[in-house]
Amino acid sequence: MDGSARLYSESSRITPGGVSSPVRKFEPNPLFISKGEGCIVTDVDGNEYIDLCMAYGPLITGHSHPVVMDAVREQLSKGTVYGAPSEPELELLRKLTTNLPSADMARLSCSGTEATMHAIRTARGFTGRNGVVKMNGGFHGAHDAVLVKAGSGSAEGMPSSKGVPQGATQYTRTVEYNDAQMMSDLLEKDRDIACVIMEPALGNVGVVPPEKGYLEEVRKITSENDVVLIFDEVINGFRLSDGGAQKRYGVTPDMTTLGKVIGGGFPAGAFCGKREIMELVAPQGPVYVAGTFAGNPVSAAAGLAQIGLMESDDNYRKLEDRSDRLVGAIRDSMRDNGVQGCVNSVGSMFAVYFGPTEVRNGSDAEKADRQMFGRMFRYALDNGVYLAPSALEDCFVSIAHDDDAISRLETVFTGFMESVRQ
Ligand SMILES: *Cc1c(COP(=O)(O)O)cnc(C)c1O
Repeated sequence: MDGSARLYSESSRITPGGVSSPVRKFEPNPLFISKGEGCIVTDVDGNEYIDLCMAYGPLITGHSHPVVMDAVREQLSKGTVYGAPSEPELELLRKLTTNLPSADMARLSCSGTEATMHAIRTARGFTGRNGVVKMNGGFHGAHDAVLVKAGSGSAEGMPSSKGVPQGATQYTRTVEYNDAQMMSDLLEKDRDIACVIMEPALGNVGVVPPEKGYLEEVRKITSENDVVLIFDEVINGFRLSDGGAQKRYGVTPDMTTLGKVIGGGFPAGAFCGKREIMELVAPQGPVYVAGTFAGNPVSAAAGLAQIGLMESDDNYRKLEDRSDRLVGAIRDSMRDNGVQGCVNSVGSMFAVYFGPTEVRNGSDAEKADRQMFGRMFRYALDNGVYLAPSALEDCFVSIAHDDDAISRLETVFTGFMESVRQ
């Protein structure tokens, strides 16, 4: 038995499923990682893999970038948490409110889940309404109000998890992404909607980019109905540009949630918005939100260092060029080998779907062939590439994926498509 299998047999006895978050599990056992450096992760048995999972998004500058590590060490020498305001947190707040068009004010949290939970509460407090509209296939963390089954627009939301009371999801409605008409019909009929929460580019059913004009329509519909538009940029933020998807697409929401990249590999989150909305947050206003580790100075130092790196040296453009090259090679090899499916991408995130030749919303993504994905995952692993184990997750490219790594990835993806040639 190898080291990962041995550790997993122990962990699966003492934590449910043997993992700390469900998507990490795969058969026969997940790899236990002992080191991450640049674009490479090493497992406890000493096997090295080019990482395209990249912790599901935070590591846009790669694992343990020396500049990020130095910033962390510098902060560590001064302490880890104070329970009082500190300069790193102020500096991160400054960065968010400067870069994001929607952010007059921001509040830091420790995770994306907290950020979306608090943003929804704030939107409800601001409007005095209850309803929450999300996209089919939109993921906003693991709290009750957003754990709903996809259903038809106006139907009462049903919990997608045991343990979530029906009362917690009864105000949640689901609409299809890239379908502005469906959203418009719902908002005009249901006058109790507080907010629409959505990823500008979906990143939790693989990657689904907004069609031309869609986000502009969403902005118009929500404004006309006085509904708070929340862009959940936990993945998109500081990945799709230094001002997030909202800057890339030129559409400004009322509120924004952030996480992943802004923590530089440490736990972090934030929600931001217009001044008149954010002023409702405690202690300035009556919407209660709190956290022992919120605004953690180590996370802030790491996040700032990572964002600083991305803003220098034309790094966003370089990153996207490399990502585009890889995506182009995968598309070509699918076509050349007659493999049915498509590759969706935005910036440095992409997803390979087997089966559907077009994926423009959550329902299309659901049709993807998971068994074929499983085969690709296994082939990649056997050839030194670590993908997110579950289908409908994304591949994330970082600035640490240099030309050599991209070439190696092209070879592995092409090799797989040849092996399943039709
Ligand atoms: C990851 C993610 C979250 C949850 O963030 P955590 O830090 O895992 O709690 C929320 N929204 C989106 C869009 C995400 O991708």
